[in-house]
Amino acid sequence: MSATLIHGKPLAERIRSEVAAEVRAIGRIGLVTVLVGDDPSSEVYIRLKHKAAVEAGFDTTDLRLPADIAQDELLAKLAELSESDDVDALLVQLPLPDHLDEERVIRTVAPAKDVDGFHPLNAGELYLGRPAIVSATPRGVMALLEEHHVELDGARAVVIGRSDIVGKPMAHLLLQANATVTVCHSHTRDLYRHTLEAEVLVVAAGIPALVTPDMVAERAVVVDVGMNRTAAGLVGDVEAGVAEIAGAITPVPGGVGPMTIACLLENAVRCARYRRGDLAYPS
Ligand code: NAD
Repeated sequence: MSATLIHGKPLAERIRSEVAAEVRAIGRIGLVTVLVGDDPSSEVYIRLKHKAAVEAGFDTTDLRLPADIAQDELLAKLAELSESDDVDALLVQLPLPDHLDEERVIRTVAPAKDVDGFHPLNAGELYLGRPAIVSATPRGVMALLEEHHVELDGARAVVIGRSDIVGKPMAHLLLQANATVTVCHSHTRDLYRHTLEAEVLVVAAGIPALVTPDMVAERAVVVDVGMNRTAAGLVGDVEAGVAEIAGAITPVPGGVGPMTIACLLENAVRCARYRRGDLAYPS
């Protein structure tokens, strides 16, 4: 392997200990997570988030609601939590059961408590170049690139994936860092033509081995956001051979994954600062 491995754990641990210090300084930060139903992957994610939040000293509540909860009942609960003085940060684990309207649920979380940054106001502020609370995974990618001194100003960056959670906010953050950004997606023709141009390639499609060595320019920095559970275990979207071509690459597991939780905790501290008035939420 010629590529430098960009590990997420050391930086994630540093961020988590900084977050713990901030929680101690603030005194109490109330974080509520809401899990509707019993999707096994969601249970795992919620468990990991809780463990990290408890370790960092947050006052956490793990609210579990039945899979068949009525939409109105869920919205009423979220409105109550959004207004509660005990709650600084609020997270609803996605995806939700099919009968629930995800968009309405996201809109019901108070924007300044929206620890995931999914509310349209937070998405809009990012789009306008005034980021308030930004989705944790793309923020984690940016922090990793900065930590490894990857030059973004003027660089050709390609993002594969255009989800509201990863691809779109990723593209906006890269744009704000003055990269020239191309966003590829499932309708993109000749994906390799775009990826071969990339000095920085961020892959978030959820398809194992989507990116092969012949699609990557020599010395490119490749960030593999993909997390795919296969018979061979947890794999990303980038084939192992890409490490022979790239200059640097994030491993899966151990690359972007640890950063997501660390940045989520950072977002929760930001929510607490908005509530205390240390930071002004855009208005
Ligand atoms: P998603 O399914 O919402 O979006 C996938 C995107 O990939 C879509 O925009 C789609 O257009 C694009 N796509 C699909 N097939 C493609 C193809 N053949 N060529 C080009 N683009 C294609 O998924 P998501 O929520 O954005 O997550 C993407 C991946 O990132 C998943 O594997 C997910 O598990 C992983 N993820 C990891 C973390 C982490 O912490 N590491 C966090 C969130 C998501």
